[in-house]
Amino acid sequence: MTLSLRGMEIGLHGAAVRFGDFQAVHPTDLTIDAGEFFSILGPSGCGKTTVLRLLSGFLSPSEGAVSIGGRPMAGIAPADRPTALIFQNLALFPLMTVWENVAFGLEMRGWPKARRRARAFELLDLVALAGQGEKLPAELSGGQRQRVAIARALAVEPAVLLLDEPLSALDLKLRQHMRAELKQLQQQTGITFVYITHDQGEALTMSDRVAVMHRGRIVQVGSADTLYDRPENAFVATFVGETNRFVGTVTRSEAGLAEIATAEGRFRAQNPSDLPPGAEAVLFLRPERLRVLEAGETASNTLQGRLLRRDMEGAFSTLVIQTAQGRVKLQQVNSGIGAALDGVLRLGFAETAAVILPGGEMADD
Ligand code: ATP
Repeated sequence: MTLSLRGMEIGLHGAAVRFGDFQAVHPTDLTIDAGEFFSILGPSGCGKTTVLRLLSGFLSPSEGAVSIGGRPMAGIAPADRPTALIFQNLALFPLMTVWENVAFGLEMRGWPKARRRARAFELLDLVALAGQGEKLPAELSGGQRQRVAIARALAVEPAVLLLDEPLSALDLKLRQHMRAELKQLQQQTGITFVYITHDQGEALTMSDRVAVMHRGRIVQVGSADTLYDRPENAFVATFVGETNRFVGTVTRSEAGLAEIATAEGRFRAQNPSDLPPGAEAVLFLRPERLRVLEAGETASNTLQGRLLRRDMEGAFSTLVIQTAQGRVKLQQVNSGIGAALDGVLRLGFAETAAVILPGGEMADD
């Protein structure tokens, strides 16, 4: 007997959810590929869990439709969908052994005991719990218990695993370890993972693609690199990673680049939204893309400031620099000699290192 797992494609087709007058999810079109590790990332209350409930079938869309494996899901109950769900607060049965917990769903389906047991041990192998099957849940660590829950979810051979913040109850070290394990498990099984989290580190490290959600809308979908390097709006630019921002007015625009006049001076940077001259806009610049210029060195964009603080963080340092009108953060790799950063510092960044986007709601407003 071997597991026969395969992933299925998921489609949202103009799917929306209203609770009374409140639009929790605006009409959304989205395709998640079969076998993809897909995360939905966003702040508390943005609608992530509501999307997951649409997929699991515990909630029906107020308009639009959901399909899994090309099949419309309208009227199909949660238990009849090719999905399994894992929560943050998993509930294992304390008086059942680990293998009996894993086999629980199979008992409900009428599998005979010997077959259930064999399948459970096979799944325990898969989640690196070989030899733990006869223990009780209380005899396992938190991370091991979470793996039992995963094995239990996989027992019914779902094509789609829905994970709702499954690691948030674990401590930091274990969480980081489990990230690698989940990613490996997803690759091994080939099933589609839809992973809900408000933790960008989790989403960026594990996922093939991430959807960033804000106020009931998916505001960008892309790989970790795309979201970090090519944010399409102010929310993504500020929610994913750290950034400096300079508010201003576009003064020139040509071939993917624009010039913006800000309180710190005029800068040139990427202009993915094709903002025309006169547009109110914000330039976003990652701290590690800003550099302290050496004597005589030049850059496309320059500004000046004085060092306020240097936080040594091991491999790199974060410098907080007072500029003419505000403060900027600069991150640099430590060279081991320590830098003398007295007096006025000249700072620079390349045109390709920053992005100019329309203003809008920021993640930390
Ligand atoms: P969190 O990370 O805090 O779980 P979330 O992004 O998963 O947040 P949802 O649980 O999807 O958010 O909720 C989205 C919005 O819909 C919230 O404002 C919530 O209060 C609201 N909401 C969710 N379920 C219901 C319901 N059954 N009735 C009314 N409003 C609801």
